[in-house]
Amino acid sequence: EKESITGYSESRYQELVELDKKHFLHPTSSIKQQQEKGPALIFTEGKGIYVKDIKGKSYLDGFSSLWNVNVGYGRTELGQAAMDQMEKLAFSSCFSTFSHEPAILLSAKIAELAPESLNTVFFTSGGSESNDTAFKLVRYYWMLKGQPEKKKIISRRRSYHGVAMGSTSATGLAAFRTFTNSPLPDFFQVDNFSIEALLELIETEGPDTIAAFISEPIQGTGGVILPPDNYFTQVREICDKHNILFIADEVITGFGRTGKNFGIEHFGVTPDIICFAKGVTSAYIPLGGLIISEQIHSDLKELSNGIFFHGYTYSGHPTSCAVGLKNLEIIEQENLVENARMMGEELLRGFQWLQKEHAIVGEVRGIGLMGAIELYKDKTTNERFESPIAPGLAAELLNNGLICRGVTYEGSDMLAFAPPLVINQEEIAKIIEIIDKVLLNFEQGLGR
Ligand code: PMP
Repeated sequence: EKESITGYSESRYQELVELDKKHFLHPTSSIKQQQEKGPALIFTEGKGIYVKDIKGKSYLDGFSSLWNVNVGYGRTELGQAAMDQMEKLAFSSCFSTFSHEPAILLSAKIAELAPESLNTVFFTSGGSESNDTAFKLVRYYWMLKGQPEKKKIISRRRSYHGVAMGSTSATGLAAFRTFTNSPLPDFFQVDNFSIEALLELIETEGPDTIAAFISEPIQGTGGVILPPDNYFTQVREICDKHNILFIADEVITGFGRTGKNFGIEHFGVTPDIICFAKGVTSAYIPLGGLIISEQIHSDLKELSNGIFFHGYTYSGHPTSCAVGLKNLEIIEQENLVENARMMGEELLRGFQWLQKEHAIVGEVRGIGLMGAIELYKDKTTNERFESPIAPGLAAELLNNGLICRGVTYEGSDMLAFAPPLVINQEEIAKIIEIIDKVLLNFEQGLGR
């Protein structure tokens, strides 16, 4: 039997497909599609910004897998950091004030990178846990401050905050909210960028019942949506005025993706809490957390007498923290935040060129290495295609060796991109070249 260049035979491939269908319930996937067609791809290895599948075909990963393989694939330093830590002390709990060097050093490093007034870190295993922790923390905070009725959480439509019970209740994207019934009470969504809607909700519910407002600095899953100028300045003022804590969900935007350490820095305001995950380890190992302001921390120190009854077994996992430290060192040494800013501009220039060349490309946008292309049947009137074309185009791009994401939430039709922060100019050109080719084919199919 002939082996592919990655060393998997056809029968081994078939065997894996069958086992996948029988035993593996995939996250955020169509069960029906998996059962009918098997897994869409089986990946086997990666190097730099490229990944390979089991059949030996190579793909440029224009999405950093899930916005998270920020330093690219195959970084042996990260594997080495994990191995060194596992050999030394694979795990040690941080409950009951037990501590260890990797968690101590990583919290100090994150505090150094974070906005000046945010200096204390709580660790989780991912973004959903970070947001749930933030929701519990702000409620605990207001209880300590003698205002237990301040417990409501406001988020925005189209937002994505994760899938734990609290984070799914805060998520504004209808598809995720309505997937199960009974999202939690005391979670409210306001129109995406409407200051009026925010003020109205605060008025109706009463500021004394609201604990916090949560927002992604740039909406990711919703489709790389940038806020209007001054939006966050106004939000910050409103939160200050009504004693509402402001949580920035930086799970995608944290640690350089937008061309600054944290996405919120683009908007000249400082949140009370930053939630992070993904980029802190470039996905080499699960890790998330939140960074809290000195104000919150000093109130907690003063008012909390009992036990902070919240902690995950893996809060401050030593191996995850060791990998996080190494990853942040790589980002610093290789100047990847600045690279994300420069290559982001390059990507946006490419998108603007595509917009000129292609009748179906309407608005293009991006900040750092997060970008999107809006697709229209008629871009002069913003008329959409009868059914979204983004999924078909994303599949065609994949056939042509480029991974990106088709976004069709709530009537949209767009392609989203988030390549690794290590990407260079030639690789950006390659992305644009592949998109150009696929769009040309598509337009020819339309007879244009
Ligand atoms: N918040 C945001 C902004 C996210 O993009 C995500 C994941 N895409 C999450 C939270 C949830 O993180 P996780 O999947 O690690 O739980």
